[in-house]
Amino acid sequence: MRRKLVVGNWKMHGSRPANAELLAALIAGRPYAADVAVCVPNVFLSETAATLAGSELRWGAQDVSEHEQGAYTGEVSAAMLAECGCRYAIVGHSERRAYHAESDAVVARKAQAALARGVTPIVCVGETLEQRDAGETEAVVKRQLSAVIHQLAHCASEIVVAYEPVWAIGTGRTATPEQAQAVHAVLRAQLHAATGRGHTMRILYGGSVKADNAATLFAQPDIDGGLIGGASLKAADFIAICRAA
Ligand code: PGA
Repeated sequence: MRRKLVVGNWKMHGSRPANAELLAALIAGRPYAADVAVCVPNVFLSETAATLAGSELRWGAQDVSEHEQGAYTGEVSAAMLAECGCRYAIVGHSERRAYHAESDAVVARKAQAALARGVTPIVCVGETLEQRDAGETEAVVKRQLSAVIHQLAHCASEIVVAYEPVWAIGTGRTATPEQAQAVHAVLRAQLHAATGRGHTMRILYGGSVKADNAATLFAQPDIDGGLIGGASLKAADFIAICRAA
């Protein structure tokens, strides 16, 4: 009923030759049973679009401005991403929240800006290790998601959610399938209460997903695919993860 989605988050990695090689391998690895997308650094969007056009692979950005246009040096608008053919924009990644002080309110406005231009926001939520240890996981992710739901009102069912426990990102320490599933179930219930369409919405897991743990994570009833960092940079690993979905 929900088609799985696997999204590569390249972060600040890549170069023109390396990207060309990686994208060619992803194209050669088709067909995939899941939807597959790569979120690349903005400077590579046009080339990525040219390379992937005509394939069923999608592409997107790792962030988007909350503003429409104007004097916002360094920012990139949702309209610009749409012009580059972006299907997705990640918003509220924990690295943006931590290093760029993005609040729940800013993340919510970014999600709205993306949706207004037909770009699907992949809204990231997740707790730190301190918050998990303090038993605050559920409260934290619900607060983060609730800001977005509130901002989007009747459009909230259009988003993709990514649960990414901060302690699992880039650490090699993956949440167990049971830990992830428990949080996904909470998020789906919250989405369903708000939109009535929670059963159709995709909730991805992210945080040290690898070729050897993807299948058990994706087998959980409320895990609809993954947001993949490190392992999305190696064609063989990413393809294996896409095939596990
Ligand atoms: P990771 O990153 O797969 O390298 O842990 C995931 C993410 O930050 O989206």
